[in-house]
Amino acid sequence: MAFEGLTERLQNAFNGLRKKGKVTESDVRDAMREIRLALLEADVNFDVVKKFVKTVREKAVGSEVLDSLTPAQQIVKIVHDELVNVMGDAAVPLNKSEHIPTIIMMVGLQGAGKTTTAGKLAKRLIQDEKARPLMIAADIYRPAAVDQLVTVGQQVGVPVFEMGTDHDPVDIVRQGLAEAAAKKNDYVIIDTAGRLEIDEQLMQELSNIKELAQPNEILLVVDAMTGQVATQVAEGFNERLDITGVVLTKLDGDTRGGAALSIRSVTGKPIKFVGQGEKLDAIDVFYPDRMADRILG
Ligand code: GDP
Repeated sequence: MAFEGLTERLQNAFNGLRKKGKVTESDVRDAMREIRLALLEADVNFDVVKKFVKTVREKAVGSEVLDSLTPAQQIVKIVHDELVNVMGDAAVPLNKSEHIPTIIMMVGLQGAGKTTTAGKLAKRLIQDEKARPLMIAADIYRPAAVDQLVTVGQQVGVPVFEMGTDHDPVDIVRQGLAEAAAKKNDYVIIDTAGRLEIDEQLMQELSNIKELAQPNEILLVVDAMTGQVATQVAEGFNERLDITGVVLTKLDGDTRGGAALSIRSVTGKPIKFVGQGEKLDAIDVFYPDRMADRILG
């Protein structure tokens, strides 16, 4: 289960405080040491942990907290609020275009869940808005990628524009957009190529697609299981593409959770959705307060 280790360690730190009749500054320091370790072990980015611990400590050692009747409870609330704060406070909705179509470009490393997430988003848009999306298959490098998107399209009842693997991805996107204009699709979801790691050729290709398509959203799909790496990947893609949001996948797995807590602080970009399973309806809006509740257990 996601966050298991982190939840347990945070609860231990709080239980230590609850046992004290009176909580002193030194007790707070001890608890913060435990919380710091818990966050680092959960693979939260080092700078994020440092700032988090400093903020919580400053709020917790005030006399209103320590002299209150329920100091431990108040410290739990301070931690909760700061968890929400680092994850971005409120849910951030999809950017929409004023004129159809709204164009969503999916980017990310191979295996992160881009293609699956494209299908999940399309399905959600159909359910929520009775949308008529078109998906464009612009990953020409992985032979199975086009077929995979076509299959996903069939499963969710969304047409897929594809030209096989012998055309330039920018060309495919250009023709796909023309098709969407002709068919008056209200959303276009572009599935782009991934690689095992960030490389210059991929970034150049994605920049070219971005320039042509002028997407309303560039959603970076990252795998929560990869922890700090997910955060670094987000930083790398954001530097080159100025992404508009992140989808954190595989939160149903045994992830330690660091990426959920780091990405917003490190990139300044919101997590907009989380993937919580392989099925095509396993996608949820990312609510920082609900995630904080889940982390605290
Ligand atoms: P892509 O290479 O980025 O397009 O990745 P895919 O969409 O092909 O996904 C890679 C694998 O991850 C597939 O087996 C998906 O079923 C799986 N996957 C994607 N999202 C999730 C998720 O939220 N949870 C779980 N458990 N698996 C996922």
